[in-house]
Amino acid sequence: MAVETWRIGEITITKVVDVVNMVPPGLLIMEATAENLAPLAHWLKPHFLDDDGNAPLSIHTFVVSTPETTVLVDTCIGNDKPRMIPDWNMRQGRFLEDLASMGVEREAVDTVLCTHLHVDHVGWNTMIVDDRWVPTFPRADYLFGRAEWAFWEDEVDPFGKEAKGDSILPIFEAGMAVLVESDHRVAPGIQLIPTPGHTPGHVSVVIESAGERAVITGDMMHHPVQMARPDWKDIADVDSAQAELTRLAFLQRFCDDHTLVLGTHFATPTGGRIVRDGDAYRLAV
Ligand SMILES: [Zn+2]
Repeated sequence: MAVETWRIGEITITKVVDVVNMVPPGLLIMEATAENLAPLAHWLKPHFLDDDGNAPLSIHTFVVSTPETTVLVDTCIGNDKPRMIPDWNMRQGRFLEDLASMGVEREAVDTVLCTHLHVDHVGWNTMIVDDRWVPTFPRADYLFGRAEWAFWEDEVDPFGKEAKGDSILPIFEAGMAVLVESDHRVAPGIQLIPTPGHTPGHVSVVIESAGERAVITGDMMHHPVQMARPDWKDIADVDSAQAELTRLAFLQRFCDDHTLVLGTHFATPTGGRIVRDGDAYRLAV
């Protein structure tokens, strides 16, 4: 598979895929029916909608490499973990081998950043060694949003109830969790911005270097159709009203001629620009 990589000034961003599931967009966004998608098909096809009405839901990590540091944004599903979704259950994927083939050894990662703490964003935080869950990236600080952890500390992820125990708590027990504010500056050129609604402490990641800019969405959008219809409810959003406000503000802020938008679940080609489309927006790739 071709490696997808983007250059923002002196910073390189590389996508490493863990799992791709083919799903109808209506699985998560109930109003995204075939009938409602038809007027948008001219730009959703072929990348974000196929002729059978399905779309690839890509679960990937972005490796952000600056001259100073290496940061992983979100850690996907992971291997060997019991999960209720069959494709995610007890996986034996090649994520770590793929990461290494791109020149990123586990020991070279300085920071792991979770945009939020859902099951498909924390999986490779840990790996199993001698029947114990240990941090996969032994030198890394693992950044979790303070507001995000405050919510999940007493909650169970409806999409993966075991994830807290096998992918989050072991990081705290190892003393490697760092709770950060939603506007935390991760490193020169890497800045969190609060994008709450999908989850209470959800963040997106702005990357800037030499006058160029990218933003990693996290799950404030699952699919580019939410640029055209930010009002459609996403069943995975904890607070639908707040999520809609956040999507609108994000679209207005990053609808410009130079911000590269990288979707955390967007299918290949994954990155594009937000452009106006009538009184709404679309992703131009
Ligand atoms: Zn997700």
